[in-house]
Amino acid sequence: MKAMSVIPGKPDSATVAEVPGPPESDGPILVEGLLVGICGTDGEILRGYGQVPEGSDRLVIGHESLGRVIEAPPGANVKAGDLVVGVVRRPDPVPCTACAADQWDFCENGRYTERGIKGRNGYGTQRWRVDPRFAIPVPAGLGDHGVLTEPGSVVAKAWEQIEAITARSPVTGRRALVVGAGPIGLLAALLGVQRGYEVHVLDQVTSGPKPGLVAALGATYHHGQIADLDLSPNVVVECTGIGELVVELAAKVAQAGVICLAGISSGRRGVPVNLNQVNAEIVLENAVLVGTVNAARRNYTQAVDALAKADKEWLSALISRRVPLSSWPGALSKEPDDVKVAVDLRD
Ligand code: BGC
Repeated sequence: MKAMSVIPGKPDSATVAEVPGPPESDGPILVEGLLVGICGTDGEILRGYGQVPEGSDRLVIGHESLGRVIEAPPGANVKAGDLVVGVVRRPDPVPCTACAADQWDFCENGRYTERGIKGRNGYGTQRWRVDPRFAIPVPAGLGDHGVLTEPGSVVAKAWEQIEAITARSPVTGRRALVVGAGPIGLLAALLGVQRGYEVHVLDQVTSGPKPGLVAALGATYHHGQIADLDLSPNVVVECTGIGELVVELAAKVAQAGVICLAGISSGRRGVPVNLNQVNAEIVLENAVLVGTVNAARRNYTQAVDALAKADKEWLSALISRRVPLSSWPGALSKEPDDVKVAVDLRD
């Protein structure tokens, strides 16, 4: 079968590879791959993030999955014909306390693996297998939008963390600022609106689909600099991974506010910063700076629920470009109107 194959750290290595069928050791549920979403992490893998499976010199990527079950054992949480999404992370072999409690997203020793990212082949294949423990049922009504489940799970976990933190103070303000209007930012905005927040989204572009997608949520689109924004958010979801923005966000956040960092980037730009000032802003505002990565199983289910409640046309517009498996490396290059690019494993 054909697969989306790369060598981590080799930008020109993306290719359509012929690989053997999915190993039984991946689990008893056999799945026909439908779509794989591409995200910033895939680009980072080509720049050196990620890890090949032991004994292999290439990695099959694809961690944002959607497939249709071909066969499943009796009693499994999915049956033949169902749509299904595979969980990304696998617990470490020890396992640590977090992994033992199925909270692999909080793995303590870093020995977890991630399908399509770290030490384990991904879902970018025409057939894949998964264990019921890592299979998320997707309602038929979601259709292709189910490919947004994994990025949705990352955002659902971010909001779960934010809500746990905001619950500690008597401040009830519900103004949220999302920085970055890529797929993670837009999904963060969707979940914020669904939670009753007044949502503002900041990005750099003034044309293309992003401003309209924000407006369609009933949120407010801004472009330009954080410092120029005339608002003081109770919650910030930072989705660009541009580290220096933390400095400006610390100056903006409201009393008892939460700045949640949900992105990473490998950029090396340095700026001189007065960290004492940042420290004082965080202390005097009772603010919390929190990082979040990956998601637990329940966050995938929360994402499925959030997508099921969302407007279908809006979700369709989010998946702005599809690339057939036969030319999938084209999905890695950015085009001006891209939001979420998905690889169609059926073509
Ligand atoms: C994925 C997460 C993963 C993270 C770090 C993200 O793109 O959505 O599941 O944990 O990358 O590898």
